[in-house]
Amino acid sequence: MAFEDLLEDPVIQKYLHELVGPTGMPVAAAPPDGEVTDEELAQELGLELNDVRRALFILYENDLASYRRLRDEDSGWLTYLWTFEYEKIPENLQEEMYRLLDALEEREEYERLHEFYLCDICSIRFEFSEAMDCGFECPECGSPLSSMENDHLVEAMITRIDELQAELNVNP
Ligand SMILES: [Zn+2]
Repeated sequence: MAFEDLLEDPVIQKYLHELVGPTGMPVAAAPPDGEVTDEELAQELGLELNDVRRALFILYENDLASYRRLRDEDSGWLTYLWTFEYEKIPENLQEEMYRLLDALEEREEYERLHEFYLCDICSIRFEFSEAMDCGFECPECGSPLSSMENDHLVEAMITRIDELQAELNVNP
């Protein structure tokens, strides 16, 4: 897939944005074909060199960019030549979705299997055993705790789990 097609995908845009943040996004969203130096990128995009380097390093840590170093024989200066490797984005995204799915399934089970109590004043939630330990009174303000429904939360999680399973072709 060409970089341009990848970058039109809103899911991929969001993924990159979460990785590099708003200041790094101009770097992440404009991957050149072939090698480029950090100075060239900074100049082309009108960005601070440090912001460019930070974004490149994040991409590198996530296997989305690599570099090789060249030493100038006269000055001894090192130049970093960067290559964007966005062909790994779909794979990374998929791994991320599997992680999210695992976390959601775990959380959904926790929510489904526990009873919760709430202090309306402090908006603090307690598990049943915690609520019982403090005599169903908020340890912060002393207000009585009220039983809290989490059916909507559980339903929303199940919907999201179903969607993820469908996207990943996982059978429940
Ligand atoms: Zn309270």
